[in-house]
Order: sequence, then C-alpha cells, then structure tokens
Amino acid sequence: MSTYHPLTESEAIQVARSLTNIFESEGELVSREIGDGNLNLVFHVSQPSTGLSLIVKQALPYAKVVGESWPLTLDRARIESEALIIEERFAPGLVPKVYHTDNELALTIMEDLSNHVIMRQGLIEGGFYPKFAEDISDFLARTLFFTSDLGMNQQEKKLLVRSFANPELCKITEDLIFDHPYVDADTNSFDAHLREDANKLWADSELHLEVAILREKFLTHAQALLHGDLHTGSIFITPESTKIIDPEFAYFGPMGFDIGAVLANLLLHYASQEHWSPNATARDERRKYLIQSVREIWVLFESKFRALWDEHGIDRIAKTAGYQDYYLRNLLQDTIGFTGAKMVRRIVGLAHVADIDRIPEPAVRAKAQRLSLEIGTKLIKRNRQSTSIEQLIDIADSAS
Ligand code: ADP
Ligand code: MG
Ligand code: MG
Ligand code: MG
Repeated sequence: MSTYHPLTESEAIQVARSLTNIFESEGELVSREIGDGNLNLVFHVSQPSTGLSLIVKQALPYAKVVGESWPLTLDRARIESEALIIEERFAPGLVPKVYHTDNELALTIMEDLSNHVIMRQGLIEGGFYPKFAEDISDFLARTLFFTSDLGMNQQEKKLLVRSFANPELCKITEDLIFDHPYVDADTNSFDAHLREDANKLWADSELHLEVAILREKFLTHAQALLHGDLHTGSIFITPESTKIIDPEFAYFGPMGFDIGAVLANLLLHYASQEHWSPNATARDERRKYLIQSVREIWVLFESKFRALWDEHGIDRIAKTAGYQDYYLRNLLQDTIGFTGAKMVRRIVGLAHVADIDRIPEPAVRAKAQRLSLEIGTKLIKRNRQSTSIEQLIDIADSAS
C-alpha cells in the first residue's frame, strides 16, 4: 500500500482506517470516488452506523485535458496539505481540517465538507451568501499578511518560499493565463462566434504590454503564500460558513493574484445574469448583490490588512511614513489587473466556467462572453492608473 499507485475505493477505506482514528472500530465503511478525475482522485469515506465521514484526496501523476495526458508532479499533494495547514494556522476555521498527509501516496485525508456546496454551483442556483465577504476577506487578509515579509520572519519566509516553489503548477498558470489567451495557441478553446473577438485580443498591443507586466509580477514577486487557484470552484459555502479547498497551486506570488481570482469569478457570474436571472428586476437585484460583494471584499480586506499591519507588523522599516499607503495602492492595482486577466482566460483560454458555458442559447452566451471580455480587458488596461475599487466597479457597471 505504501508505494505510489492510484487507490481503489476499497483501498481508500483501508488508508482511512489505518492512517486516522476518525471512525469507530465497529461499523463498516463505505467509499465513493466523487472527484471529476482530471488531476486528482477524491474519495468520500463514511461510516453509516455512526454518521462519521472524511475525504481522501489523492494526486494522479498526470493531468488529463481535452483527451491529452501529460505528466504532472505528485509533489503538489504535499504542497496542498502543507498549504492547508498554514492556512488553518493563520485563518482558523476557513479550510478543511487535515487529519493526515502521506507524501508517498500523494494524499491528504481531511474533513468532509459535504454539508457545504461548491460556490460556483450555489451562485448558479441563485444562492445569496451574506457571510461570504466577511469570511473571504478574513482568509485573504490573514493568510497573505502573515506569510509576507510584513508579518513573517524574513529568514523563515525564505525557507518557505523554497519549499513552495511549485514550478510545474506555476507553469500551467503562466501558460494558460498570461500567454496562450493572447496568441492563437492550440490550447485555446472558444465558441466559433468569438473568432473576431479573439482576433482583436491577439492584435491588441496595449493589452499585451499590461499582461506582460502582470506576468512578470506572477513570475517574480514572491510577496506572500498564495492559494493560487482561488476561483468559486475552490470555495465550499453555505449562508453561514465558508471553507477554502484545493490549494495545490500554492506558491509565493503577488497577493493581488488571489484577491483578483475571487473578484473575477464574481464578475464572470455577474456577466452571465442575462441567462440565470429570470427577469429584469431579478437581474438588477442579482447584479447589485454581486457588485456589492466585490466592493465589500476589497474594502473589508483593505481595512483588515491595515489593522493586521498596525497590530502585528514585525518589520521596523515597513512602519516608514507613507509606505503602507504605497503598498495598498499597488496591491489594489495588481488586484484589478489580475481580476481582468482571470476573466479573459475563462472566455478564450483552455478552461472555462460553468456560469457561462452552461448558457444554452448561443446569442445569450455570446453576450455574456463579450461582456466578460470587455470588463476583463478594460481592467487589465486600466489597472496601473487605478486608485480606488470604485474604478473597477464603474468598469463593470458601465459595460454593455
Ligand atoms: P481538484 O484539485 O481535482 O479540482 P478539489 O479539491 O477541487 O479537486 O475537489 C474536487 C471535488 O471533490 C470538489 O468539487 C468537491 O465536490 C469534492 N471535495 C473535495 N474536497 C472535499 C471535502 N473536503 N469535502 C467534501 N467534498 C470535497
Ligand atoms: Mg476539479
Ligand atoms: Mg478543484
Ligand atoms: Mg485542484
């Protein structure tokens, strides 16, 4: 069992029994693979007689995408486990509890969150999540602050940067977010009706310059430990609770990349309301709710981040007058730029979002896609001139 191989459902029961003491010794266990199978196996293991359960997530040694398969390091399972443990330390209660990590088998055994729903699906079904802005701003402010040079011993941080190098998963992001959407790459995938829009994207040199600058930040700015894949499919939610899962892309990068991932996915959902809202009144209300969430996330994040800095800042030089304002202004600009980049890649790049792809009527889908491209490209182009989150909101509000 200890040398790597993909587990079967019954082997998942064996590892759950032998590596944790979650279950009662009496009472049989049931195992079901519930992952989508592209990169990882996810087993739900439960004990019907006691109601106890857990999740066994195992990395596969390859990624399956559009029928192709390429090797992908198993080390990402270690990264995922270690990131969850660090996130729990700094943002307690906002990630699943890790019960056990096995690097040889590339697995994480963790808390079962099946009583939550994946936020992307919850939003598609019209869910409202009144606690989300509070929770996600806590998660972002605390994980980003305490793993940056502002809140972590700088020598300790350098060692962590090395252990979270994550070159293979970063390369996927570099290609799929910062490169391929802006050229006629084989990996791109989009509806035929977007051909002209794609041509415009590929010819837009003003846009390409801004994407090159954002990419440089992604490649070189080891600001804090990022989740690295913080879209609404990595968030488990209920109206009362938020749990962030799936940090296998974690590495030290620019903070705005994580914040931008959250905002981009709310704005992609915003752009899809033409379909998902049943009428104009509902659509208006829904859009207001999503815009207000975007605003609150930034505003709460900024005030929490500043408060952590004032209370827990360990760096004397970071107290230099004007530096905190300078830092937050740059962070807002990065956030706006990465929000845009994360919207554009979901329309013309390899991996899309269900919010938009599941719109059945091509004309309505095209409208949502063009709206996302319009908002995304404007955010990318204007990020370096921005001084307030209201500028991002104006771009979304005024897009047609
Ligand atoms: P991947 O990296 O392959 O995307 P995820 O960690 O996102 O894997 O998990 C894939 C799916 O498995 C999730 O969308 C969710 O349905 C289920 N899942 C993952 N972790 C848990 C958990 N802790 N509790 C319940 N279900 C989970
Ligand atoms: Mg998946
Ligand atoms: Mg996932
Ligand atoms: Mg994943």
